[in-house]
Amino acid sequence: MDAEGGAKIAVIVVAAGSGERLGFGMAKAKVPLGGEPMLSHTLRGVLAADVAGQICVAVPRGDTELRGICEALGAGTAAGPVMTVVDGGATRAESVRAALAALQPGVTSVLVQDAARPLTPAEVYHRVAGALAAGALAVIPALAVTDTVKCVAPAEPAGAGIASEVVRSTPDRAQLRSVQTPQGFALPTLRRAHEGAAGLTAEQAAALTDDAMLVEAAGVEVYVVKGSASSLKITGPWDLLLAEALLAGPLAPRWVEG
Ligand code: C5P
Repeated sequence: MDAEGGAKIAVIVVAAGSGERLGFGMAKAKVPLGGEPMLSHTLRGVLAADVAGQICVAVPRGDTELRGICEALGAGTAAGPVMTVVDGGATRAESVRAALAALQPGVTSVLVQDAARPLTPAEVYHRVAGALAAGALAVIPALAVTDTVKCVAPAEPAGAGIASEVVRSTPDRAQLRSVQTPQGFALPTLRRAHEGAAGLTAEQAAALTDDAMLVEAAGVEVYVVKGSASSLKITGPWDLLLAEALLAGPLAPRWVEG
């Protein structure tokens, strides 16, 4: 469906990661949360936000189970968004590029969501889509950082017997933000940024941890809207525990933000 301002929005869900750090021995998008694969929660969140004319999911190459989850959810929303599934790549950026190549004609804006953020509230999708409708070419949801953050470097040989790293600087915490997804872009802006990244080495591509950094490098202003504590990224077992608690309910009144 069309969002405000006549933009036709596609949501790309990147779900092709290996999930090694969770230690379940399966793709992270398949890891059970509340008795269901993580991807089911993420996709239901996208559907509930009701901003997309197309949902395009990048799954691990050849994975029939995740493909099946997408197709079943897509079939259940006959009048809803078109569901497309593509094979992802070896890096997150490659997975985004594969999805960008499968967007329908007429799409003007794209939101890129990590499958690993299964509990992103609809309000965050709306804030990102709202900023795009207001004219932003790039927009990210983010939260203030509560820990003090240090930049470190390997300790010199003389100090390496004490510890492996030393502090080099302390950025001003007031200026730091912890960045989430969905990240929103005018489609031509994101396409151009990813075309520029297609020739990177494997090491450089692996260092692309979000889409906004590519767009920043191209000199585009990236706007920041409020994210949500509920939009946590599932990386380790601790995150999974917190997500289970959020789903179970008792924490929800304290954690879910408007
Ligand atoms: O590994 P990380 O947690 O940073 O991954 C973020 C998101 O990118 C996850 O949803 C993951 O499935 C996705 N991803 C992908 N293709 C890759 C690597 C990561 O779709 N090759």
